[in-house]
Amino acid sequence: MSNNKPMPVPTQISAPFWEGLKARRLLIQQCNACDHWNFYPRRHCTVCLEHDLAWREVDGAATLYSYTVTRIATLPDFMDEMPQKLAVVELAQGVRINTNLVGLAEDEIRIGMPLQPVFAEVDAKGNRLLRFTGVDKDAASLELPPAQDSEPAPAASEQPAARQIDLNDEAALQSLVSEQYSDWSNVVVVDQALIDAFAQLSGDDYWIHTDPERARLQSPFGGTIAHGALVQVLQSRMKMALGFEITGFSTQINYGSDRLRFPAPVPAGSRIHSRARVKKVDISSRGTQLTLELTTHVVGQDRPSVINDLVILYLA
Ligand SMILES: [Zn+2]
Repeated sequence: MSNNKPMPVPTQISAPFWEGLKARRLLIQQCNACDHWNFYPRRHCTVCLEHDLAWREVDGAATLYSYTVTRIATLPDFMDEMPQKLAVVELAQGVRINTNLVGLAEDEIRIGMPLQPVFAEVDAKGNRLLRFTGVDKDAASLELPPAQDSEPAPAASEQPAARQIDLNDEAALQSLVSEQYSDWSNVVVVDQALIDAFAQLSGDDYWIHTDPERARLQSPFGGTIAHGALVQVLQSRMKMALGFEITGFSTQINYGSDRLRFPAPVPAGSRIHSRARVKKVDISSRGTQLTLELTTHVVGQDRPSVINDLVILYLA
């Protein structure tokens, strides 16, 4: 699991709070001088100003103080969480926390409703964020994200057996040409870490790909986007069931591309998938050339992000 969303940066003062969440414990500061509970984390008590605060574990019992439902992602990174229920909850100790509600339908949410904490796991490093849900919900089941980063390719046994076509069978080869695309491939997530790795590899570290802060402010896409070339090469990670297998050749060569276009951007954090069709079969004395039209889309988008007319040369 990777996470492309902006993450809290613990400071010396707030670190116990974040460390507590990792251990699924909610720690809040209480003043040793006047017993007042303080949140957010700080050096001094907001009531008596004493610098004598102790971290104490609380059970997280809370009520809903206020909320709003956001239907447009504040950042492209949050598109997978829409609609988001942003909330201010009040702990039994009286402190209020900015958070979001999970596992609740919009019509179940009421100001003043009792809530319990959800220690939501957000990355593979064990970082957790504090969210809340209704007291009648199964908080433990809400700790893991609903969507995984990558879905496995369908197991070979689930796919129908590929039709075998001999390289010398010209009629069968020509019958592969179709307007019909294959089924969608498995899904791959294009996160900032992958984009950064590609920037380093290719030397293309233009800010529109690598600087999320600047891209948020200045890019027409509201955030960083993947390099078109990166999205193109990720086609290798997407398994497509084309339904045929060519046999009877000695060598298979990636001969390049007849057409390569990047019609739509892929924002960082997007889930992409691909499909393909056989566009053309050319048989010549040099060999047999199969042109596959591969298109890659952000999941749910009609407009492709990559169109690649890939030419494969088979030598007998
Ligand atoms: Zn105090």
